[in-house]
Amino acid sequence: MKKYIFVTGGVCSSLGKGIAAASLGSLLECRGFTVRMIKVDPYINVDAGTMSPYQHGEVYVTDDGAETDLDLGNYSRFTGSTLNQANSITTGQVYQSVIKKEREGRYLGKTVQVIPHITDEIKQRIYKIGEDPNVDFTVIEVGGTVGDIESIPFLEAARQMIHDIGRENVLSVHLTLVPTVTGGELKTKPTQHSVKELQSIGIQPDILLCRAAVELDPSMRRKIASFTNVQLDSVLTARDVNTTIYEIPLIYHNQGLDELVLKKMGMTIPSIDLSPWQHVVDIFNTAKQTAKIALVGKYVDLGDAYKSIDEALVHGGIGNGSKVKIIKIDSEQLEKEERPLDEVFKDIDGILIPGGFGQRGIQGMIDTAKYARENKIPLLGICLGMQVMVIEYSRNKAQLDEADSSEFKPDGPQSVVSLLEEQINVQSYGGTMRLGRSETHLKENTKIWHIYGSDVIFERHRHRYEVTNSYKDQLTENGLLINGYTPDGSLVETVEWPDHPWGIGVQYHPEFLSKPFKPHPLFKSFVEAALKNVK
Ligand code: GLN
Repeated sequence: MKKYIFVTGGVCSSLGKGIAAASLGSLLECRGFTVRMIKVDPYINVDAGTMSPYQHGEVYVTDDGAETDLDLGNYSRFTGSTLNQANSITTGQVYQSVIKKEREGRYLGKTVQVIPHITDEIKQRIYKIGEDPNVDFTVIEVGGTVGDIESIPFLEAARQMIHDIGRENVLSVHLTLVPTVTGGELKTKPTQHSVKELQSIGIQPDILLCRAAVELDPSMRRKIASFTNVQLDSVLTARDVNTTIYEIPLIYHNQGLDELVLKKMGMTIPSIDLSPWQHVVDIFNTAKQTAKIALVGKYVDLGDAYKSIDEALVHGGIGNGSKVKIIKIDSEQLEKEERPLDEVFKDIDGILIPGGFGQRGIQGMIDTAKYARENKIPLLGICLGMQVMVIEYSRNKAQLDEADSSEFKPDGPQSVVSLLEEQINVQSYGGTMRLGRSETHLKENTKIWHIYGSDVIFERHRHRYEVTNSYKDQLTENGLLINGYTPDGSLVETVEWPDHPWGIGVQYHPEFLSKPFKPHPLFKSFVEAALKNVK
């Protein structure tokens, strides 16, 4: 029988539900099982693509071009689950498809309702992933907090699944908060309330993960267990970590999470190999060197806006047996403050300019690129970051003083970056960019070719604008190296600064493919260059 595990969250958001779900998925994989991860998001947007990073953090892009919640990035870093559009379910998608079916007459004669039509649609999407003959476990993370109006249909679908296929096949894991109040006392009341909320929907959680600053003592766990009807051995502490999030699978394992899950689901317990996680944590504990990387973007106020880049930099550090400290710099602030860049970047070993949309903060990024180029500081430009490198180079090295992107200056005289041809007549916003995995060819014996160790690479994209082909010759004649193209040679995919220790821009998003055990080669090489530069 296929096994399904729902991970819900209580009390408040940001408790680490995504990491908890991903860690559980990983532990099951470490025991040899095949796992699939699903995120259900109660918002009405069809996907995360139209949401601001300020609202919802980074938009994670899958191979098939789905614009999803950033938790899919966590799943990708922690597990081997295939991740596609089908692994990200939103209220918007569910209603869109139910309403489409209604218009097609597929429910003819019936009143279309939340129960059973919306809940059936949700269940059918979950079963479709889980029923793959290769899959043992499907872990479903329910976005939001139990008690939110929006998540009710998803929880109702979970309740029905427990009823339909039995408790030993559908497990409920609930992550909750045990806060510390002034004086240091731990409080269980919020957890009691949040479990009551879940029970009122008809779900009795099987396992509680109690997020707390310290390990809960047995009396505290006993109290929680008796108030919530959860067995004492199933009340675990999800304690705060101060080393790395990659320690969390080990912490959960040490508390017996994976074993509990297997026992409750009537499975035998195969041996476990945790050496990959142990290796990552060991590097953290023993690394002597730290590269300080400035991330110069416009969404720096929100911690999660560049989540995959932050993690890929950490992986780049792991690949070099070192740590990375990320210093986020607001590019708009750079323009306003007019602080000398020598001072801003005094202690910085490498600079990363990430992706983004819109004109705000662009001049700060252009000034940053110029500074890094002239002062030979390693710089990685990603997507918008690459476009910024091209604009800067055009203005300062290729006699194109008015160079710009038509995204920022629609009728500018020198649009060295302009709308992709396929985008010119696109009217709607949702899911219409150049999205997902595609092929890039690298020129042999170039720096980027050496970094990847291959002529052909596959990376994920998310953009509307591109280097304008009519300016390519002028740029290359003035020294800019263009070493990566789409297979037909029509689109520029990578640029490199000449006479520079490490200055590379890529039109795609390498950060989405990096994993702690398998750092992305570009990030590994970039951090290596930054380490050589450590002040
Ligand atoms: N705004 C730019 C474009 O649409 C860059 C996109 C990005 O950085 N993801 O091409």
